[in-house]
Amino acid sequence: MDGYRVGDPIADTKAPAGPLENRWDERKFAAKLVNPANRRRHRVIVVGTGLAGGSAGATLAEQGYHVVQFCFQDSPRRAHSVAAQGGINAAKNYRNDGDSVYRLFHDTVKGGDFRARESNVYRLAQVSAQIIDQAVAQGVPFAREYGGLLDTRSFGGVQVQRTFYARGQTGQQLLIGAYQALSRQIDAGTVELHARTEMLDLIVADGRARGIVARDLVTGEITTHLADAVVLATGGYGNVFYLSTNAKGSNATAIWRAHKRGAYFANPCFTQIHPTCIPRSGEHQSKLTLMSESLRNDGRIWVPKRSGDTRSSGEIPEDERDYYLERLYPSFGNLVPRDIASRAAKNVCDAGFGVGPGGLGVYLDFADAIARLGRPAVEARYGNLFDMYQRITAEDPYAVPMRIYPAIHYTMGGLWVDYDLQSTIPGLFVIGEANFSDHGANRLGASALMQGLADGYFVLPATVNDYLGSTRLGDVPDADIRQVETEVRERISRLLAVRGTRSADSFHRELGLLMWDHCGMSRTREGLRKALDRVPELRAEFWRDVRVPGGGAEFNQELEKANRVADFLELAELMLLDALAREESCGGHFREEHQTAEGEALRDDENFAFVAAWEYGAEPVLHRENLVFEHVHPTQRSYT
Ligand SMILES: Cc1cc2nc3c(=O)[nH]c(=O)nc-3n(C[C@H](O)[C@H](O)[C@H](O)COP(=O)(O)OP(=O)(O)OC[C@H]3O[C@@H](n4cnc5c(N)ncnc54)[C@H](O)[C@@H]3O)c2cc1C
Repeated sequence: MDGYRVGDPIADTKAPAGPLENRWDERKFAAKLVNPANRRRHRVIVVGTGLAGGSAGATLAEQGYHVVQFCFQDSPRRAHSVAAQGGINAAKNYRNDGDSVYRLFHDTVKGGDFRARESNVYRLAQVSAQIIDQAVAQGVPFAREYGGLLDTRSFGGVQVQRTFYARGQTGQQLLIGAYQALSRQIDAGTVELHARTEMLDLIVADGRARGIVARDLVTGEITTHLADAVVLATGGYGNVFYLSTNAKGSNATAIWRAHKRGAYFANPCFTQIHPTCIPRSGEHQSKLTLMSESLRNDGRIWVPKRSGDTRSSGEIPEDERDYYLERLYPSFGNLVPRDIASRAAKNVCDAGFGVGPGGLGVYLDFADAIARLGRPAVEARYGNLFDMYQRITAEDPYAVPMRIYPAIHYTMGGLWVDYDLQSTIPGLFVIGEANFSDHGANRLGASALMQGLADGYFVLPATVNDYLGSTRLGDVPDADIRQVETEVRERISRLLAVRGTRSADSFHRELGLLMWDHCGMSRTREGLRKALDRVPELRAEFWRDVRVPGGGAEFNQELEKANRVADFLELAELMLLDALAREESCGGHFREEHQTAEGEALRDDENFAFVAAWEYGAEPVLHRENLVFEHVHPTQRSYT
């Protein structure tokens, strides 16, 4: 069947049955505990030090486990989470505006276009309030109102104000909190930190995850690390598109290697395109910059009513402007979810109404907000974002509207995990953006930080206990370790031996463009097929012609890149296959063949209400996890 076959459905997600609100308590109560005195005998590897990995490492070590932690940056604090701007959701209902755990759960399932697992999402909503308490106790400087209470603001797809923030630096402040907790454990000797060390493969022995093989990025030394459980908190794979809002170093190697060792990969084609990014300025560009969704609280999005209008924004009178989100979606206006806002921007630009170079932009205008609130208030809310915009574009957003355009931002897909956040390889847990767990086909703004910290501070520490308390582990056979080490070394030698003519970046750029054109904001059967033909050719060209200067036993960033691009070239094919197999539109996955008369995503709940969990193989195998909606009844999403 079209390059893949269908395997057995996933029978058990380990989510307890019974009332939704009791499931997490029941799971925790049923979980085995490890006696505190015995915990130090267990080693747990945590790969990643972003909000998910940082919080998990600190908490597991606090519990008494011996944690061995890795990141490829020079400091845990430089994990990509540091870039998160706008905020973190939590069902605290401080504003008494009708928010509740149930509403957050409901908004998230609906926002994800009914492709997420209810049990997980409900738990996320329950745990969300604890995250804020935890962060406040650590001293995270959330914005406060005049009276001293924590302030909140709105994010897309909801009608309450549940987003907590620290100006436009929420990720940075939360990460400093997690890092501080991690540092305490590093100092206590319970966390052994390996910075600038990249996991290149997973060691599986007797069917269980038992360690990793890593490369020291400074010396090139290949090292092996064994443990009783392995946690991947390695972030998203949006950089498969080359241009994205992610940090340049973010990559898919850890999860892709684990996938090749047996972990199923879920919904790889579910990628999020963020509506408010600074448009590309030219061919040379290697990175895109996000302008936080929080700006849509006060900024109004518009394009000229006349297509091809070349007048400057100031020359276009009010009645010749189309505030198209307010027109199309009056009840949510500029705060519709990201997938909807992105598609609407693409539609107006495709129809010739776009502004700026190439017509690939729409205005995000603060003139009304400045007139209503005064410049100081706008500066206090968004000052650092305005500064960033001005530095990049040389335009003053206080005086002229920002120009924005959608860009790749987040990946809802990731390694498949059960309710315990355990992958299909026993002992391998996956948290944060690296897993697929909670956001369905579209993530709501400010929910990634919530999920990463829920996973790391609260969920994983309970479920790892259960795994370690109920599993007897033997020694890892030398042969198993040697085999993985050898494969890692051989791959590096192979990359160095090609001595071709093209840089890894040039392959990455070509792959990214192909993916953007055919697996980006909208997808067609024909385009996906075309890309599916081209990716294997590009991969073969890569292995024939990539040029990696220097050697393996040294600091070699070209080698690092080539290694990661080789994985992107494989993952891309699975994304295309997944997008082709999903004959419906849902959330960020927009198949042009499946749309309503109004151009909205048209789901097919009868045939596609499942998580697509892919097993690796020459011919990938699709396992379906059928989604059951007992509480939020799937409907055509409406934000009008
Ligand atoms: C510009 C921007 C702004 C955002 N703003 C918000 C926001 O306001 N609110 C919100 O909720 N979400 C936001 N997001 C999304 C959110 O920031 C991310 O989803 C989240 O921070 C991911 O956290 P993480 O811990 O899963 O991964 P990351 O923070 O990406 O951390 C990954 C870690 O894994 C390590 N790693 C990866 N691979 C390897 C390997 N092979 N070997 C060793 N180490 C490895 C890295 O070194 C790093 O430490 C934003 C995203 C972007 C791009």
